[in-house]
Amino acid sequence: MKELFDIENKKAFTKEKIIGLGEASFRKSYYSELQEKLLDLERINTRSRALIATIPDFLLVSTVDGGTDLFGEPNKHRNYIIKGILEDAKIMVELEAAVKNARKSREIISCNFSYHMNASIYYFEARVNISEFDEALIIIRDMTERMQMEIKLREMAEKDSLTKLYNRHCFMEKLNHFEGMNNKDFALLVIDIDGLKLVNDTLGHPYGDTIIIAIANILSTLFLHTGFVSRVGGDEFGVILSGYSQDQIEKMLEQMEEMLDEYNEKIDVLKISVSSGYSILREGIVKTNAMYQEADNNMYQNKLLKESSIRNSLVKTLMKTLEVKDFITEGHADRLEELSLKMAKALKLNMHQVDRMKLLARFHDIGKVGIPDKILMKPSSLTEEEWIIMKTHSNIGKRIAEASSELKDISALIFHHHERFDGSGYPLGLKATDIPIECRILSIVDTFDAMTNDRPYRKAVPIEAATQEIINCSETQFDSALVNLFISLIERK
Ligand code: GH3
Ligand code: MG
Repeated sequence: MKELFDIENKKAFTKEKIIGLGEASFRKSYYSELQEKLLDLERINTRSRALIATIPDFLLVSTVDGGTDLFGEPNKHRNYIIKGILEDAKIMVELEAAVKNARKSREIISCNFSYHMNASIYYFEARVNISEFDEALIIIRDMTERMQMEIKLREMAEKDSLTKLYNRHCFMEKLNHFEGMNNKDFALLVIDIDGLKLVNDTLGHPYGDTIIIAIANILSTLFLHTGFVSRVGGDEFGVILSGYSQDQIEKMLEQMEEMLDEYNEKIDVLKISVSSGYSILREGIVKTNAMYQEADNNMYQNKLLKESSIRNSLVKTLMKTLEVKDFITEGHADRLEELSLKMAKALKLNMHQVDRMKLLARFHDIGKVGIPDKILMKPSSLTEEEWIIMKTHSNIGKRIAEASSELKDISALIFHHHERFDGSGYPLGLKATDIPIECRILSIVDTFDAMTNDRPYRKAVPIEAATQEIINCSETQFDSALVNLFISLIERK
């Protein structure tokens, strides 16, 4: 077949291939056979054109004189892409190299290239085949969708979907790569967000997510050119560094704290803090497990040192948040504290109970930080579903208190501050003296103060009407003995 590529042999080729007869039988009339052959050819031609118009690929023909033309009409809406490809000098050089290679090897050669247009990248695969007429046929297939899917799959396997950082699996693979190496100044950093559970419990999981994303952004900005950053756990991040001194690493951590301060200045809800630890190998063989353990231990030590201060400041910021969100004012807390202390003293409660009473008066509603604004601030009455959500504030408050050394002692009191004397309250429906005395006192004082001051949904009622309402609810909502004491205190005042 080799001689068929020779242009000079074209005539012989035509006779043999198209007419199918030898030179010897030229004198005979072959008109009818020729006509049939021509019809066959036309059929093949039409079929080829229809085929080319149907397939999603582009077909180019590169001629011997070096030109490259589009063969057939591609899909109309993609015309502009192929036009762009044909005008792209870099792509044409790549295609010409593949054509050259195919001519030389006489095999199908494929190559991949990408084309940038309107801020999008299109990926293509070209296959080059040389025809028996020595023309190079180039089939170009759009691989963009497949490549995008591959990129997405690779990202799903390697990256964490929330933060777009590398996931734990990738981090471990990267660590394995360094294992056993003689790597001077190899370092591992571990960073863990402080008190994220409390944030989730109070401000909700989505808010917790925004904190995780904020820390991830700070770390990826800070270590963009220096380290490999990964989300190794729920709220824990790992960074692999190589070639930095201890001083440099500590500077980076200081920078991280500064970036965090900047972030905290911008948000008014809750200040975030993280604990960090590192392990650095000055010289010798990298043992990643031992180094990770050391970095983790250092991080925990860092966390323990500031633990109670973090949690207590978290509780304080939560309380401030509530003051902004809710109708609670300093005045309300002060009035509650004053009235309930009077009750506690008149009842001769012991010193610890009096202390707890004070804290309960101030912090009983702290769980309301976890209630959506639209329910908390609703000017009309709540629906049944909204009440279910509203009632969760006792439990949220309990969890916040448990996380704070200052409020730990009143977590159970916060949990029960909406119980009613007849057992119709929540969350447990405790009855009578099963309800802690501090809660029984608070419920009277709180109701009285709520009635005698303006609320978003109603105006204040006169003191006489409020005391009458408290008396009316004696034995059902309130402990009657405490109601009598309260009335006598109010009258004395
Ligand atoms: P510590 O100060 O001791 O670090 O306490 P912590 O509350 O941050 O809790 P810890 O680090 O022990 O546990 C991580 C918590 O992070 C547990 C889980 O509630 C929360 N968490 C894990 N993954 C996610 C997530 O994808 N989104 C949110 N919002 N929270 C998460
Ligand atoms: Mg944490």
